[in-house]
Amino acid sequence: MGYAFLTRRRWNSTLMKCSVCEDSGWVCETHPDKPWEGEHACRCDGAGMPCPKCNVPEKNEPPRPPAGLKTQFDKRGWRQ
Ligand SMILES: [Zn+2]
Ligand SMILES: [Zn+2]
Repeated sequence: MGYAFLTRRRWNSTLMKCSVCEDSGWVCETHPDKPWEGEHACRCDGAGMPCPKCNVPEKNEPPRPPAGLKTQFDKRGWRQ
């Protein structure tokens, strides 16, 4: 029981760190394998879209907004 608990905890911490968007919740729309925000954000100047791995909205639910919402988000960002 104790070991199962440890395994579960390690699995959860792995899930929390999304390797695609680096936990920002958003990826580049043109390059969905690169984060749209953060240290390693894609610099192709493309639009962003919710991370297909960790930010998939439920039906009729908006996706989690980017951590550092930019002003340009409204202009060229993902639209609902
Ligand atoms: Zn993600
Ligand atoms: Zn890109």
